[in-house]
Amino acid sequence: MEEQTEPVKRRLGVMGGTFDPIHHGHLVAASEVAAKFHLDEVVFVPTGEPWQKSHRKVSPAEDRYLMTVIATASNPQFSVSRIDIDRGGPTYTVDTLRELRSLNENSDLFFITGADALAQILTWRDTDELFSLAHFIGVTRPGHILANPGLPEDRVSFVEVPALAISSSDCRSRVAQDEPVWYLVPDGVVRYIDKRRLYRHDG
Ligand code: ATP
Ligand code: MG
Repeated sequence: MEEQTEPVKRRLGVMGGTFDPIHHGHLVAASEVAAKFHLDEVVFVPTGEPWQKSHRKVSPAEDRYLMTVIATASNPQFSVSRIDIDRGGPTYTVDTLRELRSLNENSDLFFITGADALAQILTWRDTDELFSLAHFIGVTRPGHILANPGLPEDRVSFVEVPALAISSSDCRSRVAQDEPVWYLVPDGVVRYIDKRRLYRHDG
């Protein structure tokens, strides 16, 4: 009789975000989680454009997508997916994970997100389904491991990431005030922001 062994599953990290712009905090977080969880690949998934104007104008999806490609291109473990952009409208994590699940049947998914966002997770829709689709990894600053009341322990982990003080909002306000973003974002992203005049009042 033929022996039936379970095929070894690929381990696929999923890093969702607005990436407006992508910065070294995102990249360090993805790299750190990939190492700690022995991931084969991390796919960055820029969000779609919101239906309604929220409190701020989000840059066009194509600009956010291209910056993400520029920032990740040199890392053979990193890739970028257009699924949320091509779906259109606001992005719900459950839709992202459902789609990645069906595109990657032989992979286990690891959804990487800020620990603050993870703390909000119980207020999201479809949380039972979310936890069945992926393992959730909350990234925190060193020394800020959060207690996770109510989160299923076998489906959620926390990882400390260095260099966490960088945020996209800070990068945007720096550009708007003509302050440097060199070394906060990859060199190619500095150039792209400049070329497209993103985040400038005249942009
Ligand atoms: P904004 O300042 O506009 O909120 P952001 O820097 O948080 O932007 P997002 O695109 O919203 O960037 O973040 C995508 C994901 O990366 C989120 O899960 C967020 O918590 C996480 N993240 C953001 N900044 C960092 C960082 N410095 N280190 C690790 N993870 C981060
Ligand atoms: Mg944020």
